[in-house]
Amino acid sequence: MSSHLESLVDLSAVDLGRKLRSKEVSCQEVTTAFLDRINAHDAKIGSFLALNQEECMSATKEAQQLIDSGEGGALCGVPIAVKDNISTKGLETTCASKILKGYIPPFDATVIKAVRRSGMPILGKTNMDEFAMGASTETSAYKIAHNPWDLERSPGGSSGGSAASVAARLAPISLGSDTGGSIRQPASLCGTVGFKPTYGRCSRYGLVAFASSLDQIGPFGRSVEDVAELAQVVTGYDPMDCTSRELGPISTKDLKNGSLKGTKVGIIKETLGEGTDGSVKSVFESAVSLLSQAGAQIEEVSIPSLNYGVTTYYIIAPAEASSNLARFDGIRYGPRSEGSGHVHMVEKTRAEGFGKEVKTRIMIGTYALSAGYYDAFYVRAQTVRAKMTQELNQAFSGFDVLISPTSPIPSFKLGSLMDDPLALKVLDFCTIPANMAGIPGISLNCGFTSGLPVGMQILAPQCQDEKLLQMAYCFEQTLPTILAWPDLG
Ligand code: GLN
Repeated sequence: MSSHLESLVDLSAVDLGRKLRSKEVSCQEVTTAFLDRINAHDAKIGSFLALNQEECMSATKEAQQLIDSGEGGALCGVPIAVKDNISTKGLETTCASKILKGYIPPFDATVIKAVRRSGMPILGKTNMDEFAMGASTETSAYKIAHNPWDLERSPGGSSGGSAASVAARLAPISLGSDTGGSIRQPASLCGTVGFKPTYGRCSRYGLVAFASSLDQIGPFGRSVEDVAELAQVVTGYDPMDCTSRELGPISTKDLKNGSLKGTKVGIIKETLGEGTDGSVKSVFESAVSLLSQAGAQIEEVSIPSLNYGVTTYYIIAPAEASSNLARFDGIRYGPRSEGSGHVHMVEKTRAEGFGKEVKTRIMIGTYALSAGYYDAFYVRAQTVRAKMTQELNQAFSGFDVLISPTSPIPSFKLGSLMDDPLALKVLDFCTIPANMAGIPGISLNCGFTSGLPVGMQILAPQCQDEKLLQMAYCFEQTLPTILAWPDLG
């Protein structure tokens, strides 16, 4: 391949789109460049569970026709990687679980319909923690994913494959899902941008449900602009999702019209406590001083109920999961284990099909919802959730946005946290509140420690997704940018 084509993988999604529309490159050249790179390098990264080569090439032809007829939008012809819990018609969707091995959805998720309509060829389905339960992509039933910045370390999770594929330049852009941080945390650990929209702005129709009141689909990219453009494609009101907000798609019109001057930024005090690594704190603090030099008015703000976020989340999310995952019974989806009689077949299918983490969550959730414990656990957790939402809203009365580190630690060695059931769970400390309150959140790189990326999280009030992206764009202009993405050899 000529170096002109090899360097295509270095371009942002928006730049690729521009080159495609100006006919400097063809859709076929772009898709082929990424597929070739995946074939050459993904064995080391493990970011894809399935490739979609053939269908991807025919979608590429259709994208070229759209461009040739002058109808291509900003991302037309830009290939995309999709998390494996988002239903893709005709393409295996396993949620990285054995219980869905071989399941081929007969329909597209609403976001996938939108992606196809805008001419984005789907490269394949990305690796993840089983049913999105985890923070390291190590609970995948199929393979471990590696962080492109250090192959011995985790890309984070649960959307680890979506984050790693973008950081490794195996895909220019991708989709993930976020229930307690699964877009923002892997984005942080891989140095990419990751955005969770306001609950209800992006349709969940066709997203395999984990915890329905918390789940939200969102984009990963190498820049805020890329992520904003993909958000525009996939968001908007959807009558197929009863929790969809009656708002239009996220607009990118004013993305570049913001300014940090006079912007009120609150640093969430609780996120810089003893649980946060010193190295993360110092990178975060240097970034904060750059923001303040650029004119942002920065103050600390305390939101005490955030200290109960992890415990509350680990009641609510498993409770909802225990109900959502009841449908995987060997009758309707995936493989069936032989057992004597119907009940034993269901029992055996579930015993063999679900991994350890998923089973643990189902048991915790069933327990929390059981008659004798419902009030003590589930109802109390909902009360704390309401309190947290109220305290966050109150904090927003004094600030335009709130910030924190995204993850209390940088990427960790694979295997190092798996044996400690709590160690991985506390990693969600900073990200859980946004899901609890349904507010939008974004993570972007704010520096490095020992060669590993550190992410900053920005939060905004409900439905202020445009404002959040505008601020993130200003932050990105001010913070140090990644000059070289990891070299895969
Ligand atoms: N790490 C969290 C969990 O395991 C969040 C996962 C997610 O956002 N899907 O539940």
